[in-house]
Amino acid sequence: MSLQRIRRGDVVIVISGAHAGKQGKVLQVVPSRGKVLVEGVNMVKKHLRRTQDNPQGGIAEKEAYLPVSKVMLYCPQCKKGVKVRPASRGDKAVRQCKKCGHVFEG
Ligand SMILES: [Zn+2]
Repeated sequence: MSLQRIRRGDVVIVISGAHAGKQGKVLQVVPSRGKVLVEGVNMVKKHLRRTQDNPQGGIAEKEAYLPVSKVMLYCPQCKKGVKVRPASRGDKAVRQCKKCGHVFEG
């Protein structure tokens, strides 16, 4: 694929699985593994070991990777997950919503 469908900073919506319907900002994309990290989605609990800084130990919540196939770019105009097509704006490659033509910056 020449154009990366999902990029860091995008707002995406989860389309399948346990978190379907959840929206969040993409924190990280790992194209080689086809995975994304989405803010506030697919949280897992991590048990923290007791350390000098954190003598109580405890549990922290952290995002876990999702397959990129489970998310779609969220279009603010369509108000749902949409497919995009490559477009250009000046000399910049952008993505455009296939439904309404909304241009995603970045
Ligand atoms: Zn749209």
